[in-house]
Amino acid sequence: MGFPLKLNAIVLQSVNYRDHDRMLTLFTREQGRVEASARGAHKTGSRYMAASTQFAMGEYLLRESGGRYTLAGCTLDSAHYAIRETPTRLACAALLARLCLETVQEGEPNEPLFLTLLQALAYLENGYEDLKGLAAGFLLRFLHLNGQGVVLDRCVQCGGPLKDARFDYMKGGLACAEHATPGSLPATREQVFALRRALQGDRFRPVESVPGCYEALRGFTEYQLDRRFSAFDYFENLL
Ligand SMILES: [Zn+2]
Repeated sequence: MGFPLKLNAIVLQSVNYRDHDRMLTLFTREQGRVEASARGAHKTGSRYMAASTQFAMGEYLLRESGGRYTLAGCTLDSAHYAIRETPTRLACAALLARLCLETVQEGEPNEPLFLTLLQALAYLENGYEDLKGLAAGFLLRFLHLNGQGVVLDRCVQCGGPLKDARFDYMKGGLACAEHATPGSLPATREQVFALRRALQGDRFRPVESVPGCYEALRGFTEYQLDRRFSAFDYFENLL
């Protein structure tokens, strides 16, 4: 056995297996997705109990053997326990983690998305109240870091000005009235400005509370990932 690997990671998923073990899916800053088992982690008094809960974040030491990783130590930055204090915050965090699970791949680091998730979790941990705005801010950056993003500054088809703009999920952005796919929902100036502001700067920020922004971003996300996510419904039903 060589030296253990040291990775900065967020626990996206933690599943109990056998009597006392947990299988962790980590979003690591250095290597993208990594699966690791945490032996004895859900045994009472285990030193890995906190480090192996969902949304925990810190520096994880992993030992490799036969292509599998085992947790060999952890310096925890935060277990993000406050997120669990309300079901809505927990459901919001679970939604963000679900989307990362869907897209983060092994051996493909995505540091901007890692930091975005970390910053969004910090908002949740600190009790930020507008959870729809928080989720919307995450979705907006998530789409820009993972897919084609959402074109917000011109008509996605003709590049022209956004007169009577629509949210065009199929085309991946705002479209003018002439080029919008039939059935696309109208986008107000207020919504468009709120979305643009949320994308400014490098740091994650929630979308200001303008009705309809979150719903539009859910539409873009499910269209781009080509599937529905029950984590959205679960979150919305708790609001
Ligand atoms: Zn157009």
